[in-house]
Amino acid sequence: MIYISGQILQGTSFQEGYLGIERGLIVETGDGQPPERPVREGIIVPSFVNCHTHVGDADVSLDPSLTLEEMVAPPRGMKHRALAAMDQTSLDLSIARARALMRVSGTSHFIDFREGGVEGANSLTKLKGPPYPKVMARPKGMEYDHEEVSRLLSCADGVAVSSVSDWEVDELDSLVEHVRREGKPFAMHASEGRREDMGRILSLQPSFLVHLCAADDGDMRMVADAGVPVVVCPRSNLFMGMVPPLSRMLDAGIALALGTDNFMNSDGDMRSETEMMARLLRSQGRDGLQAIQAAFVESRKLLNLESELPLTEGKAADLVVYEGRGSSPACDLLFRSGNGASMVCIR
Ligand SMILES: [Zn+2]
Repeated sequence: MIYISGQILQGTSFQEGYLGIERGLIVETGDGQPPERPVREGIIVPSFVNCHTHVGDADVSLDPSLTLEEMVAPPRGMKHRALAAMDQTSLDLSIARARALMRVSGTSHFIDFREGGVEGANSLTKLKGPPYPKVMARPKGMEYDHEEVSRLLSCADGVAVSSVSDWEVDELDSLVEHVRREGKPFAMHASEGRREDMGRILSLQPSFLVHLCAADDGDMRMVADAGVPVVVCPRSNLFMGMVPPLSRMLDAGIALALGTDNFMNSDGDMRSETEMMARLLRSQGRDGLQAIQAAFVESRKLLNLESELPLTEGKAADLVVYEGRGSSPACDLLFRSGNGASMVCIR
């Protein structure tokens, strides 16, 4: 057994103590000093759940002069042309690099909006070990094909489309109906660069939405009333020239989870993403510490992993330890990230 000790994040607050770890499980907890010298001391947090990624584009080289639409709108956006031109080996390498970046920065699970239809989904589902994906696949084109969607749902965890605006109404309705019949989740980007019809989006009963940068207050209230969580990706939004209206979304009563979005403009590091969210919350008149709720509580709920918390005996020892420096572990975790992870322990 090994021991780690320090300030342990339990929910959204920290408790001084230690954890004993054996064979990937927490087998002992306690206050004060552990019975043996700890292998690491610092700020101890549960592993991250990255609620929004596109791992296929880690090796896509980005032209930052392009607009959001020119970069990512399917099917002619730069990213989609680059993905279409990739052979399987290049795609596998890109995905491997994205997963390695997440693993070393303490992410144990991620939700990927996987492009490329059945083959694209299989590129991810065939992989073993952490970080563990939830694969939200999409059809290759923007038309409903019964056989393709059946095959897609036999390998993927669910379906996620680029946006409601990219699809004809009937085609998208047929797709969503099929996904629902199979009892799988459906999700999409929504109002990322421009406002979209939230009534139409919610009529599709999404399990969650991503972005909402261009939504107005009425749209946000509708999302909150429907109980649909939203994944925000602050660094990606800022890169694309947008500011996520975090404070207004929280005012509306929306549960916010956190993701890093495209790997072509992100390193997939959830601690950095959490820090950016905290800074933006402060700039929008909020307590930056609310980012902890998004990163460690709401993001877990999206994957039904909340039973892994709090960190007690018998729970998975999927943990990250950061060197702590001051008397405020929350501030050290959020705003003084220079030390990086001193220990990542993921099964
Ligand atoms: Zn995305």
